[in-house]
Amino acid sequence: MKTILNFFKKIINPARNEAEPDAVPAVNAPAVRIYARAEHNISRSQISENALKVLYRLQKSGFQAYLVGGCVRDLLLGREPKDFDVVTDADPEQIRKIFRNCRIIGRRFRLAHVHFGREIIEVATFRGAGDAQDDKQVLSKEGRLLRDNVYGTIEEDVWRRDFTVNALYYNIKDFSVVDYTGGMDDHKTGTLRLIGDPETRFREDPVRMLRAVRFAVKLGFNLDPACEKPIHELAELLYGIPAARLYDEALKLFLSGYALQTFEMLRHYGLFQILFPDTESSLALEEEGFPKLFLVKALENSDNRIAEGKTVTAYFLWSAFLWEPVAIRAKEKIARGMAESMAYQEAANEVVSRQNSSTSLPRHITMSMREVWTLQPKFNMRIGSKPSRLLTHPRFRAAYDFLVLRAETGGADPELPTWWARYQEADETEQRKMTRPPRGVKTGKAKRKRTYRKKPAAQDKSV
Ligand code: ATP
Ligand code: MG
Repeated sequence: MKTILNFFKKIINPARNEAEPDAVPAVNAPAVRIYARAEHNISRSQISENALKVLYRLQKSGFQAYLVGGCVRDLLLGREPKDFDVVTDADPEQIRKIFRNCRIIGRRFRLAHVHFGREIIEVATFRGAGDAQDDKQVLSKEGRLLRDNVYGTIEEDVWRRDFTVNALYYNIKDFSVVDYTGGMDDHKTGTLRLIGDPETRFREDPVRMLRAVRFAVKLGFNLDPACEKPIHELAELLYGIPAARLYDEALKLFLSGYALQTFEMLRHYGLFQILFPDTESSLALEEEGFPKLFLVKALENSDNRIAEGKTVTAYFLWSAFLWEPVAIRAKEKIARGMAESMAYQEAANEVVSRQNSSTSLPRHITMSMREVWTLQPKFNMRIGSKPSRLLTHPRFRAAYDFLVLRAETGGADPELPTWWARYQEADETEQRKMTRPPRGVKTGKAKRKRTYRKKPAAQDKSV
């Protein structure tokens, strides 16, 4: 209880804590700066029509209504926001009464989703600072926020947000931007700064360490040195986060078009090893730089695809992250006498089940990953009917792209993808020619035929 009270004293009234000049100001005396319409570059024409409808409707019903978070940050940077989040003083029940097309979601903190066809506008009620004694906000012994379901005012809501640039509010009433935390200045200098004492805020929610990397890379901002400092030491707190949440966060980290930079930065702060422990160990076993090169190439390739507007899939990227661990295990099994295809299957199972405890993967993703991996040794089989069967496999394209990456980084014979490229282009006659066994080489199929013919003859004799 004492820790909880101290925490709130620190968050709510850091004036008592003179050693922390950056700490959060008292809630009842916020130093707010209002940037009038003429002082910022957000214009309504950049805002989704549906988000505007929601804002205006809330306002007409007598409530406050603001855009907040990533959309305000991105609009200020002249970027197109991924989505638009609205915040209001109406509670979820009141929001539901205003919008027919609305669903209330969330257990930890209830909020409303207003549906417009495929677009969803998320409408949240201001979060309150809460009162430790009312038991609605609870901290774990590491300082993690376990429950956080108190409604409040904008002055309280702002201090619960993570970074200053994520805590700017666009007010639909007068089109101004409301800034309690110095977010506008940080915007100008390109600084990603946590609100309040960094260590406390990371302990409250360790995922903020991953978010720090994600935003620093995505926005091209510098991480404030005070935020940067405790990350190494606190990284292990991420072990306490459910693997499903880490998977969602890892998807955002690696599928946003900055996978390579994100990977480098996560490694720099000691965060990568928590998301991908087996990959990190395999990176230490570099053979002439090849394993690392392969992953780097895969990440670079994925970023390029996103830049070209092509799709990227989670399973392809996760296959790349975990390929080295799978290949290392498979090789060990083959050396112990296991058949190649069995060795890859077993290695894949082991690696996937270990990875599931770090970032828990949906089943359809692990199935596709297994296919990409177990098809790799099959590319070596270029004689007889196997190539034509491989070509019709639903995962052929992904497995082939994977092979290309391996070959480019020294992990497979560079001849192989060239042969397969030719084979894919060839007509049937040419394909048959390409897969014909060289003279004197007996294929498995021919052998099977002979044994089949001999057997009935032997039976005939005995009758
Ligand atoms: P993106 O462009 O990736 O959606 P975002 O900033 O909108 O970035 P969200 O995860 O959508 O990120 O969250 C919306 C807002 O909610 C954030 O800008 C931030 O103000 C607040 N927020 C989200 N997650 C946290 C967190 N873990 N701790 C504190 N505040 C958070
Ligand atoms: Mg968002």
